[in-house]
Amino acid sequence: MNVYDGWRIAAMLEHRGMARTDDVSDADIIILNTCAVRAKATDKVFSALGRIRRAKKPTALFGIVGCVARESGADAFRRIPDLNFVLGPQSYHKLPDILENPDARLLNIDLGGLEKFDSLPQMEKSPRVAYIPIQEGCNHVCTYCIVPYTRGREISRSFESVMAETLHAAKTGAIEICFLGQNVNGYKYTDENGTIYRLSDLIRETAKIPEIMRIRFTSSYPTEMTDDLIDMFKTEPKLLPFLNMPIQSGAPTVLTRMNRPYSLELYTDIIRKLKIARPDIQISSDFIVGFPGESDQDFEQTMRIAEQIKYINSYSFKYSPRPHTVAALMPDQIPENIKAARLARLDTRLNEIQRDFNESCIDKTLSCLLEGSDKTGRHLVYRTPFMQQCIVEFRDNAPELADIKITAANKASLRGKFID
Ligand code: SAH
Repeated sequence: MNVYDGWRIAAMLEHRGMARTDDVSDADIIILNTCAVRAKATDKVFSALGRIRRAKKPTALFGIVGCVARESGADAFRRIPDLNFVLGPQSYHKLPDILENPDARLLNIDLGGLEKFDSLPQMEKSPRVAYIPIQEGCNHVCTYCIVPYTRGREISRSFESVMAETLHAAKTGAIEICFLGQNVNGYKYTDENGTIYRLSDLIRETAKIPEIMRIRFTSSYPTEMTDDLIDMFKTEPKLLPFLNMPIQSGAPTVLTRMNRPYSLELYTDIIRKLKIARPDIQISSDFIVGFPGESDQDFEQTMRIAEQIKYINSYSFKYSPRPHTVAALMPDQIPENIKAARLARLDTRLNEIQRDFNESCIDKTLSCLLEGSDKTGRHLVYRTPFMQQCIVEFRDNAPELADIKITAANKASLRGKFID
């Protein structure tokens, strides 16, 4: 989502005649697009602002957009008095106001809805993988999560607006569409006639676009994997056989305190249905270890579920207490050293499982999408249908979508060769 927001911001400024630079001391405007999900990300923003402030031209404008802006609000100006703008995730389209009026501080952290999507210029050329946000915000109120506060309650974009952006991306270079949302499978839009559109409708419609060869979506809430959506994995071959469906913890009592009221039976049953629809489907997850009150036995249950599902790729985090959340006030906060030890154990096992899956791909031929070349320029980097990185020898005019035979694998990536 932040990558997408960054593109839109860049397109907006390029539209006004500005150009990118990697050199802070050369920039006329410096924008930090920020994440507030864990405390570390927030802390990094303020130390980076200190560095930028010393390195930038005296006349250059600088500020923050996104979730840290929303969370800190006017307090950011107190911490960094010469900061020029603080714009929340739903008001970054107001950025040009600071160019019109550079002497006034610009603060806007409203949850204004979907205005930004349609008030910004479209990108002239789409990247090969186009991220298309379809909804913003979340209604689930997990007790650890700051997102309902920073991005607000769920709002879905109109079906027409999403499809117009998708079509535009397809006509300007996109081959893969990734639908985005904090609760992407909660997408629900009702038009004037009362017709309801779901994520499955967007997938079906997008699959009809000839230029689009691959479709995926992230992030999903387990109990919103409805049957119409599961069916898409059976009926739409362009939908990739890969799904991020975070479980967070394998301990029922922890899930209850996280306010994620699904049982392990329900969660595994959804995976069973997905495998019936698409036998080669692979699942990835997010995990939080050291949630308040998590006992050794609770953590062992998380280790067990990771083992059972065989997630092929996961993101795992130490629990980080966040402002505006219930869990931050819970008793039995877990000491840092225990969190770190649990994370290390979980990560080690997740990495082994990931390596096993990567090795199981050796000798298979996978249809892969070109991402670019590596740093040396001697290799090309492709993405498999399971989002693994696959490295092949450089070749001129390499196809954007190629059948690649996998020849070697390690934890992080695959190696392969073109079949022709
Ligand atoms: N559904 C959202 C979640 C964003 S946060 C989305 O993907 O857009 C991504 C992951 O960060 C969550 O799945 C969770 O595992 C982790 N996370 C969220 N809040 C956290 C916290 N307070 N401490 C540690 N990890 C957290």
